[in-house]
Amino acid sequence: MINNHYGIIGGGINGLSVARQLLLDFPESRVTVFEKEVEVAQHQSSHNSGVVHAGLYYEPNSLKARLCRRGAELVKHYCLENNIAYDECGKVVVALNEIEEKRLDILYQKSIANKVPGVRMLNAEEIKEVEPNCIGTKALYSPHTAIVSYGDIAKEIAKEIKQKGGNIIVGKKVVNLTEQNKKVTVHFSGDDYHDIDFDHVITCAGLQSDRLAANSGDIATPKIVPFFGQYYVIDETYKEHVKGLIYPVPDPNYPFLGVHFTKRIDGQMTIGPNAFISLGRENYSGKDYNLSDIYDFLTYKGFWKFSSKNMPAAMRELRTVLSQTNFVQEAAKYVPSLENVTVTPATRGIRAQAMETDGSLVDDFVIRKQGNITHIRNAPSPGATSSLAIAEYIVREVMTPQ
Ligand SMILES: Cc1cc2nc3c(=O)[nH]c(=O)nc-3n(C[C@H](O)[C@H](O)[C@H](O)COP(=O)(O)OP(=O)(O)OC[C@H]3O[C@@H](n4cnc5c(N)ncnc54)[C@H](O)[C@@H]3O)c2cc1C
Repeated sequence: MINNHYGIIGGGINGLSVARQLLLDFPESRVTVFEKEVEVAQHQSSHNSGVVHAGLYYEPNSLKARLCRRGAELVKHYCLENNIAYDECGKVVVALNEIEEKRLDILYQKSIANKVPGVRMLNAEEIKEVEPNCIGTKALYSPHTAIVSYGDIAKEIAKEIKQKGGNIIVGKKVVNLTEQNKKVTVHFSGDDYHDIDFDHVITCAGLQSDRLAANSGDIATPKIVPFFGQYYVIDETYKEHVKGLIYPVPDPNYPFLGVHFTKRIDGQMTIGPNAFISLGRENYSGKDYNLSDIYDFLTYKGFWKFSSKNMPAAMRELRTVLSQTNFVQEAAKYVPSLENVTVTPATRGIRAQAMETDGSLVDDFVIRKQGNITHIRNAPSPGATSSLAIAEYIVREVMTPQ
């Protein structure tokens, strides 16, 4: 492992974290990151809620539960060490009725099993002590949930990689990988770059991860089905109505967390994201579409199975897609004083969510090794929180069998 040449495909926060970890653990090795965009972290890593999740939601003993807890500690430490803004603003997950209270109790049990520090249940009055304008019958409070800019963290990691002698090549799209005699060859699109051989390659291609893996001989499924999430920024004069993060209790039948109030590290207050099928894997404006991406999900039987099973949730989300007023009202259920607040559309994020052929969404992180190639096949939220821990896991456990 020591003098090996490692290739990493994808310059999002996960690819960069893996490159950094390799340079930390094997300082004599050569490490090269290939990113198809002209800069690092142009996709999910800079289009997200910016929350350092504390580990409330995840199945105890899952990779998500383990790597989120470790990742949250590592992100905090990385920000403090590198002078990157980190705000431990805290979070409440708020129940509005008895059904949600029962779901909240299950979340509380999970958060205890996941050893999330400081979590406690709040009654209606206690909610007001944390979030004075928030209503609810009960809430789960996580005082150490924080906010950051993952785009800034990714840029800092990129700087560190270069300082440690690693190479980041941007504007270079990888088409596929082949392996022969323990060497992995990376093939690029276009003629200006020759194939390059590596001892080990790790693909961290986010929204393109299934395609790159399948083109390189890995299994075809699960496939990535892109779900966009729209955010709105609330009028500056109202932003103090929310102190930190206010989340609904997630619907256990739907994998996304629901429209929430998210304080941003730059001081803005946003509402979002909703979750609806995206007409392109990298279509942030929401105005254009990508025919090949649409073809891919329309011809995937998993998508149709998912759609038929999730109609009520999809209809609820569609209401927020079609009308800004509905979107705001969804959030104002928790903070009624914001019912008529003016909002401005902000960026969209597009989730790289893996879906099985039976229509189920893959909940846990999926990292697969075949020969000397390791693929991240599923790293949705809390993938950014977990990135430094995902990197440790890949380098120390997946690539180096215990
Ligand atoms: C709306 C939304 C909200 C979220 N909120 C949170 C949150 O609050 N907290 C949290 O922890 N997580 C959150 N997440 C999840 C988090 O953003 C992701 O888990 C994380 O950013 C994934 O990082 P990545 O490096 O794997 O993928 P990406 O950031 O998508 O990076 C993949 C990179 O690979 C490159 N690439 C792809 N194909 C190729 C190729 N063939 N050749 C070369 N380069 C290629 C892409 O250009 C891209 O730069 C959210 C995600 C979304 C979409």
